[in-house]
Amino acid sequence: MKRGKKLEYSPIALELKSRRAKKKVSKRTLKNNAWSIFSQYIRLRDCLFTTGTKTHGKCITCGVVLPFGKLQAGHFISGRHNSYLFSEEGVHAQCRTCNIIKDGNPLVYRRAIIDLYGEGYDEVLEKESREIKKFAPQDLVDIAEYYKKEIEKLGGLSETVV
Ligand SMILES: [Zn+2]
Repeated sequence: MKRGKKLEYSPIALELKSRRAKKKVSKRTLKNNAWSIFSQYIRLRDCLFTTGTKTHGKCITCGVVLPFGKLQAGHFISGRHNSYLFSEEGVHAQCRTCNIIKDGNPLVYRRAIIDLYGEGYDEVLEKESREIKKFAPQDLVDIAEYYKKEIEKLGGLSETVV
């Protein structure tokens, strides 16, 4: 059979086309969902670690104390390659100024990483940030589920977070 318009518009072709479209949208959604839950986990962890409350936390690089909802989950090394996107040691609560405007505030962030995890750990994270991993949709579902449970282990999000 010749390839032509008939094949292009056959029910099977349309079905495949729509499946491909669905797959694309859903993987992006899964990634956003996994990131959003991971980001909540990081901010909750750091709020508890830096202030002992669920509602406020300190920016890892400038020390400003902000409500949970004003904190961001900022990467030590910018350029979010997949394998590093969900790095617990490479991501911490940060203020918007340090995360976005100062591009992570990397020199201060490096010192903070060394203080937290030890000499040389900044280099471990640098290496990790260069590794590229493609997540399958199921990986992203698993990551979201895992961090939902981790949030529960920390006692859940505060109901009063802004
Ligand atoms: Zn800051």
